[in-house]
Amino acid sequence: MKPLMFFTLFLFCFSSCNTSKKVESQVITKAETSVISMKTDSKEVKKPKNIIFMIGDGMGLSQITAGMYANGDKLHLERMKTIGLHKSHAATALVTDSAAGATAFACGQKTYNGAIAVNVDTISIPTILEEAETKNLATGLVSTSTIVHATPASYIAHNKYRRNYEEIAADFLKTEIDVFIGGGAKYFNNREDGRDLLEELRLKGYQVGDYFNNELDTIQIREDKNFAYLTSLDDPIPAAQGRDYLKNASLKAIKALDKKDNGFFIMIEGSQIDWGGHANDADYIISEMIDFDNTLGAVLDWAEQDGETLVVVTADHETGGFAIQKESTRDNLVTAFTSDYHTAEMICVFAHGPQEELFKGIYDNTEIYYKMREAYGWPKIAAKANMR
Ligand code: MG
Ligand code: ZN
Repeated sequence: MKPLMFFTLFLFCFSSCNTSKKVESQVITKAETSVISMKTDSKEVKKPKNIIFMIGDGMGLSQITAGMYANGDKLHLERMKTIGLHKSHAATALVTDSAAGATAFACGQKTYNGAIAVNVDTISIPTILEEAETKNLATGLVSTSTIVHATPASYIAHNKYRRNYEEIAADFLKTEIDVFIGGGAKYFNNREDGRDLLEELRLKGYQVGDYFNNELDTIQIREDKNFAYLTSLDDPIPAAQGRDYLKNASLKAIKALDKKDNGFFIMIEGSQIDWGGHANDADYIISEMIDFDNTLGAVLDWAEQDGETLVVVTADHETGGFAIQKESTRDNLVTAFTSDYHTAEMICVFAHGPQEELFKGIYDNTEIYYKMREAYGWPKIAAKANMR
């Protein structure tokens, strides 16, 4: 049946294409320039099959700059030629937190600080990861914080308050996320309600690993299973103290998702640039920035070779009011902080791959959600009101 159907289809296309070609060739002789511009247009509508979204938590422009100078005046970020700025404010506060920031990216709605994929009325709102699931794309989350921390949580959980970590962990069981890797094992298997979510994940068909039982690098992710890996009991340690999984975990996750054939969405977070900002510790910021950028380098290598993957990099907000002072030299940065919390400055967005042009300009953080939907070619939905 099938070969015959294909043959009939082929015949149909062949004959109809032929007719349209005749018509087209007349047009070409009349207006070659318009055909040339049509060709350019059709090149631009190439849609990415996959989106890799990377969030450097707390990664303002000074954090990027400090990382760049400390890394010999060079970052992989410079390979991304399309650059924009987003307005990071939350619905009810000019200075956002990571929960409202990630919810804006994940759901396209500004909300209150502390909200995990719920709107200002604490009503659950669908995330791009959940929508990707319903469209049969493979999905993933990788983070250097606990996997239930605000940034990754806002893609997969719904909670009125970001610190309800055990409730957020339980929400992972309500989804079919294909791969997740991050810290916080204790929220899964040392819980007040006595549930062992790692065992529940296994019963659900997941391949489950953790730092205690197996090295991530030695694990082969099975193609027929979803995969969960917990990198630490609580918060993962800083990169400067030996945490080194972000690059390998990200590549491992990406390759596993790519095997599932339908395209994928993954969010990868460098969580601790923010923690360096809260600690007013420039060395902490820089080492986390470089860890994130090294991961980006490997991700860009993969995506460039793939050719069907859009990579977008941004931050939720800046942290620390971090500044590089006038006494600085390339080899010795003298830095200062105006805050131990986040600031309201606009945040850079970098894009590379099919549809990268969408990310030019200055726009609200919520637009990143709509731009990603548009890049995938999903049906348009109306943007929600942004400010209360
Ligand atoms: Mg975070
Ligand atoms: Zn923070």
